[in-house]
Amino acid sequence: MLNQLSKTDKMVRQDKETLKRAKKVLNVRKDKDFVEYEEYLYLYKKYKKALNQAYNIFEISDTYQDKLIKTKETLKNKIEEKNKIEKKLNQKIEELKNTQENLKNKNKELEELSTRDQLTGLYNRREFEKVIKKEWRYAIRELEPISLIMMDIDNFKPYNDNYGHLAGDHCLQKISKCMMKSLKRPRDFVARYGGEEFVAILPETGIKGAKVTAERLRKKIYNLKIPHKYSNVEEYITISLGIATTKEPDLFLFEELLDEADQALYKAKETGKNKIEIKQMDF
Ligand code: GH3
Ligand code: MG
Ligand code: MG
Repeated sequence: MLNQLSKTDKMVRQDKETLKRAKKVLNVRKDKDFVEYEEYLYLYKKYKKALNQAYNIFEISDTYQDKLIKTKETLKNKIEEKNKIEKKLNQKIEELKNTQENLKNKNKELEELSTRDQLTGLYNRREFEKVIKKEWRYAIRELEPISLIMMDIDNFKPYNDNYGHLAGDHCLQKISKCMMKSLKRPRDFVARYGGEEFVAILPETGIKGAKVTAERLRKKIYNLKIPHKYSNVEEYITISLGIATTKEPDLFLFEELLDEADQALYKAKETGKNKIEIKQMDF
């Protein structure tokens, strides 16, 4: 466009010069030389045409100028709009990140909840199954001893029947808390196995350690001194315990140990309750 304008400008200036000369000659020799007159007239028309063209170009240029200004304005608005959208988008991304974080935490909570027993907060039986499998594999790999303790509250039916189900629940909660606190090692694990039955896993623990731990559990529960007038053992709540232990986990299934612990518990019940029976499993 600029190129064309400067070309036209040059042309117009040239033609203006020619016209000036033409007019001068015309004034002087109008009737003298007709051919020359015709020639100058032609030049005059050419000049007019060039001038018109130049005007057109200037007009077009003005129009483009306007259009350019408008386009710039639109562009500015669009950029502003884009920035606003970008800002909103960033806010949304931030919100989404927070939601994701919350969701992650909730999932974790949910996962934790699904491994726990609702009433007592102890691990549930499902979690026990998971942990015992893991510990059993570990014990076999490392050839470490491992012990299980099955525990059951003595005379809990008469407790419920006389003090009420709510008091029974409360008692279960107290006992659970006490069991949790009574286990010392980080990998020691206790779960609610059933109604008023509990199970503990003692990894890397042989008969001696299992006995000491079981005795500590029995005493601590007794020392809670939860009154139980209707017990045929003591005036307080007591538990019976059955231990199964092995130094050769590779020779047994964990289910066998569980079964033996249950039988030991049965024996403890049979022989007076509030006591421990042990089954050592080795060839
Ligand atoms: P033993 O000394 O031989 O173990 O007798 P027991 O009375 O403790 O055993 P039994 O199996 O006859 O009764 C268990 C009772 O435990 C029956 C049930 O009412 C109570 N129980 C089980 N789960 C719950 C619970 O979640 N809440 C309450 N309050 N009671 C429960
Ligand atoms: Mg029972
Ligand atoms: Mg019982």
